[in-house]
Amino acid sequence: MIQENVDLSTFNTLAISAKAQYFAEVKNQSQIQQALNFANDKSLPVLLLGGGSNLILTQDFKGLVIHIALQGLEWNELDSDWVEVTAQAGENWHQFVEQCMHRGGHGLENLALIPGTVGAAPIQNIGAYGVEIKDYLISLTALDRETGQVRAFSCSDCQFGYRDSLFKSQFPDRYIVLSVTFRLRRRAELQLGYGALEQALSEVESPTPKDLFNAVVAVRQSKLPDPLKLANAGSFFKNPVVTQDHFQHLKLKYQDMVAYPDPNGMKLAAGWLIDRSGWKGHRQGDVGVHDRQALVLVNYGRATGEEVLALAQRIQADIKKRFQVALEIEPRCY
Ligand code: FAD
Ligand code: NAP
Repeated sequence: MIQENVDLSTFNTLAISAKAQYFAEVKNQSQIQQALNFANDKSLPVLLLGGGSNLILTQDFKGLVIHIALQGLEWNELDSDWVEVTAQAGENWHQFVEQCMHRGGHGLENLALIPGTVGAAPIQNIGAYGVEIKDYLISLTALDRETGQVRAFSCSDCQFGYRDSLFKSQFPDRYIVLSVTFRLRRRAELQLGYGALEQALSEVESPTPKDLFNAVVAVRQSKLPDPLKLANAGSFFKNPVVTQDHFQHLKLKYQDMVAYPDPNGMKLAAGWLIDRSGWKGHRQGDVGVHDRQALVLVNYGRATGEEVLALAQRIQADIKKRFQVALEIEPRCY
């Protein structure tokens, strides 16, 4: 089960060519336990890997990479309004969303085409077009690496925030998500609040969940690079939230600045800040800023994780200088 010296370039969407000292693909709980025992015996650090679409490998990983590949779906019709579905952690997220939509469980359509696995989705409370998984997640199960016990977490236990959860900020690496349960609507209530979706569906009289799903896929395909064609890790930075005073000060100078009200002030579009600073389309060796979406850093070929981070740091310093705003990197760096 354990392989040695495995190249990870096909296991991360930025296609960084780092090596795992040890690598195990796990399909059930007993294989997870065997892999953890192997790591414990050798006192090795562990890296949990799903689809590799939200991490940056800055060097070879001297430890055990555990590739989560648990499969399976359980469908439970609750009543005429709700259906509950439990997916194992290794299920592909986009295929899961599509299957729910086809079987009449609605709510996740806005999250179509997000790469990665079901098990990683709660880690940063994935979100797009006004929906986050916390809106439909009821509970999850996770193996606690400290106690060796499987624990159930309710939605509130997960402490979800903006691209954040207990698993990302407070206890990284402690819990291995095994399965996630969602409660979905039988009668769809479509979320069409984001401009791009509204525009894409403006000609459709009464949009169905399938229309919404197709619109999300089409809008994303038109704006975002497909990692299989141009390696990337999605949005590289979180959208920063600033105080009203700070925002008003910036707005005097930048009248077209894109920003949205947030409970803690104003959320600035990080992509706009980077674009406005002239970085869109910038290329340095094999690392670049995408030419249609400035929030996405891309690997044109043989870029290393360190080179990607070096460009990210230059962008962070520039944005700080121009707007007095600190950009936080969204993917996890290893
Ligand atoms: P990985 O990258 O494999 O892992 C991410 C983190 O989760 C790592 O720290 C890993 O150790 C941990 N992890 C993985 N699996 C488990 C597990 N079972 N238990 C515990 N920890 C685990 N994100 C959004 O929020 N919204 C978007 O719209 C969006 N769009 C994207 C578009 C593109 C083109 C790309 C490349 C990325 C995008 N992302 C987006 C980021 C990313 O797809 C999501 O964060 C996704 O949930 C990551 O899943 P993954 O399986 O690839 O996780
Ligand atoms: P966009 O529609 O061009 O909008 C730019 C930014 O403005 C987004 O980041 C979004 O914030 C915010 N925004 C737009 N309309 C809004 C509204 N009505 N209310 C509140 N905020 C609004 O963004 P995009 O880059 O094409 O991405 C579309 C969606 O997919 C976004 O939700 C984005 O987060 C998500 N996405 C995420 C990743 C990732 O890796 N995390 C990658 C690609 C796309 P929010 O980001 O807070 O929604």
